Amino acid sequence: MARIFCVANQKGGVGKTTTTVNLCAGLAKVGQRVLMVDLDPQGNATMGSGVDKRQLALSVYDVLLGSASVREAAVRSESCGYQVLGANRELAGAEVELVELEQREKRLKTALAEVEADYDFVLIDCPPSLSMLTLNGLCSAHGVIVPMQCEYFALEGLTDLVNTIKQVHANLNKDLQIIGLLRVMFDPRITLQQQVSDQLKGHFGDKVFNTVIPRNVRLAEAPSYGLPGVVFDPAAKGSQAFVEFAHEMVERIKAM
Ligand code: ADP
Ligand code: MG
Repeated sequence: MARIFCVANQKGGVGKTTTTVNLCAGLAKVGQRVLMVDLDPQGNATMGSGVDKRQLALSVYDVLLGSASVREAAVRSESCGYQVLGANRELAGAEVELVELEQREKRLKTALAEVEADYDFVLIDCPPSLSMLTLNGLCSAHGVIVPMQCEYFALEGLTDLVNTIKQVHANLNKDLQIIGLLRVMFDPRITLQQQVSDQLKGHFGDKVFNTVIPRNVRLAEAPSYGLPGVVFDPAAKGSQAFVEFAHEMVERIKAM
């Protein structure tokens, strides 16, 4: 039975997409069956998985509107070793169209239920907002992975997300919990980052993942080759950290 996780943070540029595609690739590498769902109309996770968003015959948009199943719309990324339910600009329209539909925040959940036996992990890359799209992600998931940079306002930034997750938990999805906070783009030479990292552990305890993702230029270069860093340059420090994170996730779900 697939474990479904959202990668979410309402801030843009914090490393959601990088986390999604590299964790997918890392999990595939350690033998897990993985589906990546791109819920961001920018389609960066789609492109970053080697799937051309402009060439999609069917996408997550069709799945949300009920005109295609996940099996019909997902495509295999041979280079990355996982399945991709892609997104492109068309998805931006879904926000408005969903309003008219019944069970509008549970469309993705219903669609994913059909494929839960096909995968070990489903990872959902969320857009940088707490929109109807993100809500569909949160309603589908067993948990949320929150990538964050250890910067000055990091803790304040989390408040809105934590409140939203609490509300979804109370009203829409009793399964939902924060699986963990992932420290990304980490630079140990910066004293402030160490301090914020310690603060995070103080506040959130074992909700902070052990794995830390370093700032690593190879992770930033990989998307222009249509690959996650883990595939593009497996030896890079950042790629190794994501494979380590994949192992940590496999262990965490055993304890769930
Ligand atoms: P989001 O999806 O939250 O908007 P992205 O994953 O697209 O964030 O990351 C924002 C930018 O930071 C991208 O240019 C990405 O390549 C870069 N980036 C992400 N993680 C790292 C890292 N660990 N080291 C270096 N650059 C990174
Ligand atoms: Mg993104």
